[in-house]
Amino acid sequence: MDASHVEDDLVNILYTEEDIQNRLAEMAVQIEKDYEGKEILLVGVLRGAVMVMADLARHFGRHVEMDWMAVSSYGSGTKSSGVVRILKDLDTDINGRHVLVVEDIIDTGLTLSWLVSNLSSRGPASVEICTLLRKPEAQQMSVDVKYVGYDIPNEFVVGYGLDYSEKYRNLRSIGTLAPHVYS
Ligand code: IMP
Repeated sequence: MDASHVEDDLVNILYTEEDIQNRLAEMAVQIEKDYEGKEILLVGVLRGAVMVMADLARHFGRHVEMDWMAVSSYGSGTKSSGVVRILKDLDTDINGRHVLVVEDIIDTGLTLSWLVSNLSSRGPASVEICTLLRKPEAQQMSVDVKYVGYDIPNEFVVGYGLDYSEKYRNLRSIGTLAPHVYS
């Protein structure tokens, strides 16, 4: 792979940098309205949510705090099983806090369901979820996702934090990979 031409590996751009920024700005307006008078703690799930967190947070015209968790999901192949291990826990005590979990993409939602019940057991005032992308299977999740950027078809996408073999996270847009990348 020629690392200087990563955009060429995308066969189809689903969302440009501008689309993403516009949508995150809209979501931030909605979130600010919903949390008026309340302090928000944004919790990002490493590593994919780094870009969403950085850009969403900067669309707020108010104070927000940020903290991070890293989890690993035991699964076979690419599907997560819902059995989760915490690799890095929050540094913040969330007791009494309004927690908004920030995600890049929700596929089966199994990891996220586990995370929400884990966070809920720590006595927060509220726990809600915000994700830039959501795949169809996620709609069968037991937990509600309050803020969704885009509902996308069930295909593998990369860019803007999303990886294929740890690559493409640094793309500014989101797209599907060209077949030559797999071969
Ligand atoms: P879930 O527990 O099945 O919802 O798994 C979600 C995780 O799978 C995401 O945080 C991503 O790391 C990964 N994932 C799911 N779909 C994609 C994709 O289309 N591209 C890149 N990563 C994905």
